[in-house]
Amino acid sequence: MLSMPHQPRSRQATRGSACARRWTGLTLILALSITYGLWSSARNAVERDRRAYFDLRVRDLRDDIEDRLENYRQVLYGTRGLFAASIAVERAEFHAFVSALALERRYPGVQGVGFSLIVPRESKTRHVDQVRRQGFPDYDIYPAGERAVYTSILYLEPFAGRNLRAFGYDMYSEPVRNQAMTLARDTDRIAVSGKVILVQETDEDVQAGFLMYLPVYRNDLSHDTLEQRRSAIVGWVYSPFRMNDLMRGIGGEQKADLQLEIFDGEQEAEASRLFGSPANGTDESSLRTTQHVLISGHPWTLVIRTAPGFQSRLDATIPLVIAGTGMALSVILALLVGQFLSRGRALALADLRARELQESEARFRLMANSAPVFIWLADADKAAVWFNSMWLEFTGRTMAQELEQGWIANVHPDDLELVRNCYEWNFNHRLPFSVEYRLRRHDGEYRWISDRGVPRFDETGHFAGFIGSCVDINDRKLMEEELLELATKDSLTGFLNRRYFLVRLQEEFARVQRNPQLAASVLMLDLDHFKRVNDTYGHACGDALLRHFAEIVRSQLRKVDLVGRMGGEEFAIVLPDTDLIKAGTFAERLRLHVAETPLQRDQQSIRMTVSIGIALMDSGATGPESSLTLADRALYTAKQAGRNRVEKWELSPKPL
Ligand code: GH3
Ligand code: MG
Ligand code: MG
Repeated sequence: MLSMPHQPRSRQATRGSACARRWTGLTLILALSITYGLWSSARNAVERDRRAYFDLRVRDLRDDIEDRLENYRQVLYGTRGLFAASIAVERAEFHAFVSALALERRYPGVQGVGFSLIVPRESKTRHVDQVRRQGFPDYDIYPAGERAVYTSILYLEPFAGRNLRAFGYDMYSEPVRNQAMTLARDTDRIAVSGKVILVQETDEDVQAGFLMYLPVYRNDLSHDTLEQRRSAIVGWVYSPFRMNDLMRGIGGEQKADLQLEIFDGEQEAEASRLFGSPANGTDESSLRTTQHVLISGHPWTLVIRTAPGFQSRLDATIPLVIAGTGMALSVILALLVGQFLSRGRALALADLRARELQESEARFRLMANSAPVFIWLADADKAAVWFNSMWLEFTGRTMAQELEQGWIANVHPDDLELVRNCYEWNFNHRLPFSVEYRLRRHDGEYRWISDRGVPRFDETGHFAGFIGSCVDINDRKLMEEELLELATKDSLTGFLNRRYFLVRLQEEFARVQRNPQLAASVLMLDLDHFKRVNDTYGHACGDALLRHFAEIVRSQLRKVDLVGRMGGEEFAIVLPDTDLIKAGTFAERLRLHVAETPLQRDQQSIRMTVSIGIALMDSGATGPESSLTLADRALYTAKQAGRNRVEKWELSPKPL
């Protein structure tokens, strides 16, 4: 009902929203910082894992290479076993043995397994002749030239394709091979050559290669010492390797996420590149390692890099997901905090509003209860819901009684309809109203009150009922009535005064004009010889006799009849809805009553009589006063005729 001043609340609201914004910002910064921290540690974890995974993969790759070459070593040892029984291994035997190894299937990447025979210079011609006789007429040891010792690739399985090109080749004549062959001979162990281009190579798809040698000694001689080994050596079982084929066999495809370069020796020199191609461009995220391995004592340098497809086992998108999710959550969290604070602010405002309402309500009740008026509240359903103290004091009922029994029960029965109609109409139309009625006080006295009601509307503009205030207007009402009486009535008789009687006569005339069937009769009355009464008993007795006469007349009248005192002892009566016959009967009865009812005063019985003239006031009458004049004429007739009698003004009246 009452509201707080707006200024403080709006300042508070501004402060509140600034506070909410500040917290929203701080939350966002904090959450983003945490997100950054999580992202950074996730990224580091992924990076660490990537490194660890790379190291693992490198180890695997290195192990694969070493394992594979170990397998080839086993092949050479196995092949050497063939020569253990007899140096004179036949070509067919060698073929059968190597075929049984199923090189292509079980040892992919190896170009073949061969045997290189040492041919002393003095036996060279015989050897060549011998081989040529075995069905190879073009056989020769190459390269040509005079050398102290020759070697010849006598067997090489599979003996087909490009391997045929190696048939008769003197590997010992070539320094790189020679070095490995010598080392193998001297150590009785497998030796691996440096980088070579195999003689098997054609012009197409030239690959780097290397060879693996295992010495074969005469089995009838011991080879425990270096000298013994040098003198007992008859040749080498060996395997040539084409690097690309070898690495493909190791499973290059599966390692597509790693880039491998292999260099012969310990330097990453282009000339000694065995495998792989130089990394093009530098990828910052690329991991790289250089590994030195010994292949049967021969050093290789492996350079391993991550290829673009290399992935950590941890999902590299995790940091991105963390960053994305974190940022989104940060924003959501900040918004939630903002909203929460705003909501908190809204709740605080609602709380404030509720307190204001309570205060406002309390103030209203205090004011209403201390006000010198009756105050009531009704809801939109026309039901009274509250009365102030003054109302309750007036009716002497409790609030509960007032609400349960209905306040309207205390309204004067004569005013009930008026009050009901007034409330009904104004509630329905939601219009302010003012009504005066009598309300029963706690002592049973009906007091006039003035009730003013105004419609109430809530903050949203919805009709909420009425609020009303009433004041006790009983004294004013009585004074008004008194004034009205003074203005309209004769003080001696209580009848209407002449002026007011003429007003009411005019109204009756109008009514008759509207309803011709409702003709009225007008009577003029004059007490007979009243001057004598005054003269005989005194003026006061004359007054008393006038009052006595008034009582008799009053006793004969209906509620609707009008009586006016027109002058000293002259009266006029209007009998609505009464024709001349009925009026005549009434007048006669009155005349008799007056004549037969003397005033008892001072042990005296004072008699009086009255003369009455009657005229009809119908729709044909020219005006209210004309009927009065006609009645007066009839009265005159009555006086003339001897008094104490009734005369009617007929259409054909007796001549005056
Ligand atoms: P009539 O029968 O012809 O009417 O004779 P009357 O004596 O009544 O004659 P009239 O009507 O002319 O006289 C009226 C008298 O009534 C005059 C006056 O003395 C007396 N009168 C008028 N007003 C009052 C009054 O208020 N009180 C008293 N006591 N007498 C009054
Ligand atoms: Mg008179
Ligand atoms: Mg007179």
